[in-house]
Amino acid sequence: MSKVLIIGAGGVGGVVTHKCAQLPEVFSEIVLASRNEAKCKAIAAQLSRPIRTAQVDADDVPALTALLKQEQPELVINVALPYQDLTIMDACLEAGVDYLDTANYEPLDTAKFEYKWQWAYREKFAQAGLMALLGSGFDPGATNVFTAYLAKHYFDEIHELDIIDVNGGDHGYPFATNFNPEINIREVTAECRHWEGGEFVTTPAMSKKAQFTCPDNVGTYNIYRMYHEELESLVVNFPTLKRAQFWMSFGDSYLKHLEVLGNVGMTGIEPINFNGQEIVPIQFLKALLPDPSTLGPRTKGKTCIGCVVTGIKDGQRKTVYLYQIKDHQDCYSEVQSQAISYTTGVPAMIGAKMMLEGKWQKSGVWNIEQFDPDPFMADLNEYGLPWQVVELDSFDLDS
Ligand code: NDP
Repeated sequence: MSKVLIIGAGGVGGVVTHKCAQLPEVFSEIVLASRNEAKCKAIAAQLSRPIRTAQVDADDVPALTALLKQEQPELVINVALPYQDLTIMDACLEAGVDYLDTANYEPLDTAKFEYKWQWAYREKFAQAGLMALLGSGFDPGATNVFTAYLAKHYFDEIHELDIIDVNGGDHGYPFATNFNPEINIREVTAECRHWEGGEFVTTPAMSKKAQFTCPDNVGTYNIYRMYHEELESLVVNFPTLKRAQFWMSFGDSYLKHLEVLGNVGMTGIEPINFNGQEIVPIQFLKALLPDPSTLGPRTKGKTCIGCVVTGIKDGQRKTVYLYQIKDHQDCYSEVQSQAISYTTGVPAMIGAKMMLEGKWQKSGVWNIEQFDPDPFMADLNEYGLPWQVVELDSFDLDS
């Protein structure tokens, strides 16, 4: 029986709150806090069980610390934005509360997607006897656990990893992003980095394209190699990896809009002066785009996200694909959200459950693949994200 405080009432915050509320035996008390409390109340009104809500600016460490000291949760689930990771970690240290997030810290002025700022908190959390679990969403999150699960059960040594994230959903808008537009566009327009031969190799954004046919008739999609934050921790925690790449599907319309927006400067993260007012172009663009949390009712189709791992077992080279397929409309009927928020929110709830049940409990700051993958994988099957494993005869994204 444990109390959690969830920060952030966006698309992912809504799903985490729904999923925690479905498990009163684990999450006995829930407080949902965000910058705008009205959004928390709107989510609370969808639930069949009462939760409490609060207003907090998570950039304000003293205010957040005061809230944590007053509420005394066992764990904070941070599903605000990556900009708030460090202030929330600071408040957790001040108030003596464990911490979990789904995306690594990012400074407002540089789109870096690096763990170094949060890894620097290892000593502080260890000394305080507190735990921080980083990246407990889908990717990062489930994809890290998939890699750990394959390494544990299917291989003696893993050599190549391809994380493939396909969203076959259609929301009917010419251009919209499935999660926070600012974070999404920063991620997609960043230079690509992949791991090869013991180092990260940089190539221009979207410069490598392949086709991938998803299992179970989800379809064939164009996928593009890009940098994604889980690569950084996975190559550290699985040092036998010789190559690690991340791929995401994008439709032609999305890419065309992104190119034009980039060309006219609308995706910039540097402030500009407009009529005497400082404006960050990408933040202005976010204000114009559909709110991702409103895409749920209109999004149809499926997501298919998984890991293809090649390695050695008993002296033989083999390739195994572990994947999860989720239908957008099924998510909407369960928790009033599309599958991108759903596939992030469920692993956040499961990561929290692992910590509260003591299955994953260790002082310090940890990436999710550093724990035993088995109980997490079992819970994915139990709580809405069933997965499959297949051995592949051949796999080549270069051809
Ligand atoms: P949204 O923009 O929909 O929601 C973010 C929420 O955080 C909003 O309610 C927002 O408030 C709130 N918030 C922002 N700043 C503050 C602040 N200073 N103090 C308190 N609350 C604040 O984003 P998503 O729900 O789509 O994403 C949430 C997180 O999940 C992000 O970090 C994202 O990167 C991550 N994510 C991870 C994925 C994964 O697979 N690992 C996939 C998708 C997302 P307001 O409503 O006032 O703006």
